[in-house]
Amino acid sequence: MLAARIKQAAFPTPKDFDTYDFTAMPSLGKPKILELARGDWLVERANVIFVGQPGTGKTHLATALGLAACRLGYRVRFFTAAALVNRLEEAQKQYQLDRFLGQLDRAQLLVCDELGYLSFSRAGAELLFQVFADRYERRSLLITSNLAFSDWGQVFQGERMTAALLDRLTHRCHIFEMNGESYRFRESMRTKKTKAKDKAADKDAAKSEGD
Ligand code: ADP
Ligand code: MG
Repeated sequence: MLAARIKQAAFPTPKDFDTYDFTAMPSLGKPKILELARGDWLVERANVIFVGQPGTGKTHLATALGLAACRLGYRVRFFTAAALVNRLEEAQKQYQLDRFLGQLDRAQLLVCDELGYLSFSRAGAELLFQVFADRYERRSLLITSNLAFSDWGQVFQGERMTAALLDRLTHRCHIFEMNGESYRFRESMRTKKTKAKDKAADKDAAKSEGD
């Protein structure tokens, strides 16, 4: 049952809290995130938004929270914003839009990852708006974005649509700003440094052997 829920959610990669290093993002507040993992926000039909630069762990945490929701028995669906808009437009073309919207509606948590990396057609933006607006106070949304709210107009084309959407989305919402350097970047720098140190140590060792 749980395995089926996780499969249905279609997470991009398995990521959980046990592999998340909270010390790398001290501004986040570990207790707050772990409280979300207990699921009260889903009961309240509230939303979660992670905003920040690429590589700061937004997808990791979105997946971990999605997994936590699955474990609590909720139906979850995970999409990138681009994939979701694609599916919506495709469904509309095939006269299957209502059916697909119904499927999305059955998910108690919809995760929309990477909002803002790609902009959509007007029609695509309107479909996504419809999905988000329909969930207001009925179903939870988890959104990740590299864009500050002030730039969401670029995605939703038109200040009025964006304002209306943000008004609903942020009404009952836990917003996390993921500031700082990319975790990936930092890790790769650390690996390089360690390698450089190892190399230097090897050299020293070789030299002392030669002496
Ligand atoms: P984003 O979605 O913000 O671009 P990701 O969640 O994809 O970032 O993170 C990039 C990579 O770094 C992933 O492999 C992720 O698991 C890892 N990562 C990011 N932040 C952390 C962290 N604080 N602790 C452990 N791994 C992290
Ligand atoms: Mg990501």
